[in-house]
Amino acid sequence: MSAGLNIDLHTHSSCSDGSLKPAELVARAAAAHIDVLALTDHDTTAGLDDARRCAAEAGIEFVAGVEISASWRAQSVHVLGLWLDPDSPQLRSALLRQAEQRAQRMRKICGRLTTMQLPGDQLLADVEAQPGVPTRTHLAQALVTRGIVRCRQDAFRKFLGRGRAAHVAAEWPAIEVVVGWIMAAGGVASLAHPARYGLSGGACRRLLTDFAAAGGGAIEVVSGGNASNHIETSAQLAVKFGFSGSVGSDFHDPQLIWNPLGRLAKLPDRVTPVWRDRRQ
Ligand code: AMP
Ligand code: MN
Ligand code: MN
Ligand code: MN
Repeated sequence: MSAGLNIDLHTHSSCSDGSLKPAELVARAAAAHIDVLALTDHDTTAGLDDARRCAAEAGIEFVAGVEISASWRAQSVHVLGLWLDPDSPQLRSALLRQAEQRAQRMRKICGRLTTMQLPGDQLLADVEAQPGVPTRTHLAQALVTRGIVRCRQDAFRKFLGRGRAAHVAAEWPAIEVVVGWIMAAGGVASLAHPARYGLSGGACRRLLTDFAAAGGGAIEVVSGGNASNHIETSAQLAVKFGFSGSVGSDFHDPQLIWNPLGRLAKLPDRVTPVWRDRRQ
């Protein structure tokens, strides 16, 4: 909790790879006594209208968001856009291109699976039959459903994760470009889960330098499942680079019980909350 409020600025619905529909997500957030909620689906704003309406009914302050896939050097990174206008023409056309990138990458990954004697065409059809933008989570689930792996984690470990046989490096736009879309939509760009990229200290500082130069305004200091030392490290980096701090669970699925909605550690006092000038 932060300033007595339960704030969660990073969540997913079935419009990307979450398991709950936007309305179900908001109902769960209300039950979890969340005061301020952002929906941040991967590369889509499709769930925002429903979520906003349900949040208003539930008395939750809603933040329109998105989690955009980007590249920094050879690394895929995720940039949260918060308090944005989903009707921004630039953002809308950019997200259509992201969807096309995702569809192409999914075809390539399934092609790799076919060369590995797995039913790539059927798996592709399984993914394409799902609502929402296609993600590796959907493909991992299809591999589980077809009995090829035991659980989604195994799908990433055996096939889909970085360095695995069916991994396809995504050609996401550069981080500067992605931050530009978010700013054009009036939003603030926050670098999601900075500790999850496996970067050395020096590489992380270079990433943050580039992110700041591009107009990035915040980093996710408190992220779901983070060890407390990551909070300290991220807080230090936020202060050093002049970023404000966001907090978010990265909630996807109630069955992943170690990663619930809300219930996040407090943002350290020395970090300016990203919501300070944004809340109504
Ligand atoms: P994509 O955006 O299509 O590359 O899919 C990435 C999504 O897959 C992430 O947002 C996570 O939800 C999920 N994911 C990534 N790595 C793993 C993993 N090792 N185990 C389970 N889910 C993962
Ligand atoms: Mn995800
Ligand atoms: Mn992410
Ligand atoms: Mn996420």
